[in-house]
Amino acid sequence: KCESCSRRLEPIADMLKLLPMERALLEYPQRVISVSMPVRMDDGSTRIFSGARVQYNDALGPTKGGIRYHHHVDEAEVQELAFLMMIKCALAGLPYGGAKGGITVNPKELSKKELERLTRAFVRALGTTVGPQSDIPAPDVNTDAEVMGWFADEYGKMTGKYQPAVVTGKPLKKGGSKGRDVATGLGGVYIVERFVATRGWNPAETSVAIQGFGNVGGHIAHLLHERGYRIVAVSNSKGGVHNKNGFSRGELVVAQKNKILPKGDAVTNEELLELPVDILIPAALSEQITKANAERVQAKVVLEMANAPTTVEADAILHARGTLVIPDILANAGGVIVSYFEWVQNLKKHSWSEKKVAEQLQKKMHEAYTAVTQETKKRGSDMRTAAYVLAIDRVLKAQRKRRH
Ligand code: NAD
Repeated sequence: KCESCSRRLEPIADMLKLLPMERALLEYPQRVISVSMPVRMDDGSTRIFSGARVQYNDALGPTKGGIRYHHHVDEAEVQELAFLMMIKCALAGLPYGGAKGGITVNPKELSKKELERLTRAFVRALGTTVGPQSDIPAPDVNTDAEVMGWFADEYGKMTGKYQPAVVTGKPLKKGGSKGRDVATGLGGVYIVERFVATRGWNPAETSVAIQGFGNVGGHIAHLLHERGYRIVAVSNSKGGVHNKNGFSRGELVVAQKNKILPKGDAVTNEELLELPVDILIPAALSEQITKANAERVQAKVVLEMANAPTTVEADAILHARGTLVIPDILANAGGVIVSYFEWVQNLKKHSWSEKKVAEQLQKKMHEAYTAVTQETKKRGSDMRTAAYVLAIDRVLKAQRKRRH
């Protein structure tokens, strides 16, 4: 049983009056695959690594979710992340169930060749439990397009047929989709635009602070700037910078390209979260807004681009104080949506233009946002609860069509 998933489900189960069997169905992952694999190291020795893949629920379609390489990866965490992918895919209206995988390793300790051998060993260990019609991995923490390229290649060798649709987030030359790199940030921007329009805010007068300046944070910073928003603070793992007049486009582009921060007044990551801004965007780690600092968050809106940046206690505090939290399962769904487009392009042997990818992404993000805001109004709840209710209802409706 996934205990943390069970806790997340509790309020929703009561709200939807779920039957005990339905609740149990959502509390247990459908399949958990644990593997160990010997990998030859550069010095000639052999090390055994362990990994896992959790295929949480396939009621809506093949399971989908990233693979992370991290020394903290454990099965309980992977189960919870797979559950969240199930919710995210259902909410985005994708024909996918949720999955997640990981290998317990500090990738910084391995050479590139060792990482490649480890990835290929993982593919062989998983065997045909993954596949274009059953379970489709993607990049996650410490895995990227190159790793996905190795994955697709090894899977092809193992099955005797190159099938790029077995993973998404691949390099363009190996069947990746245009627009996948900016997809998560762009998806978040579409949500901000919708929200700002309904509130009648003027982008030029809307200030934004962003924690994390990596793939997601860096892209959302310059995409929002391009649309006239005032980016007043950004940060990375070493700390942050603040410029109350807003950074220029040039400053943001150069900083992102060189993986540095623009010049500004130094702030700590903790201070950044408490700046008096209109929109706060956590785009780095989980559990950044907690019961210890939630009272001091001054932003009117928190757009969760990181996964789980707000704890359950902090969520309640923010809601009580009237801070709107746009939840991760909605805000950062752009990544998995464009992964879905990549899969469709691979299966149909098509290649979409960047414009088409962006248009289709905008459509899907708007549909999800509209559904969540309507459900929020109907239930008088926060957006996260509404998003969970919609997603779980979709999973269970699909599940009821199956024979047991
Ligand atoms: P990334 O590694 O490219 O960037 C992470 C950024 O966070 C870096 O700037 C890093 O310096 C910063 N950071 C690390 N530790 C920090 C700390 N203690 N305080 C402040 N900043 C810190 O990762 P990413 O792909 O941009 O992912 C960021 C978040 O978004 C993660 O929570 C990830 O799960 C989530 N997410 C990413 C995608 C995607 O498509 N990349 C999709 C959905 C969700």
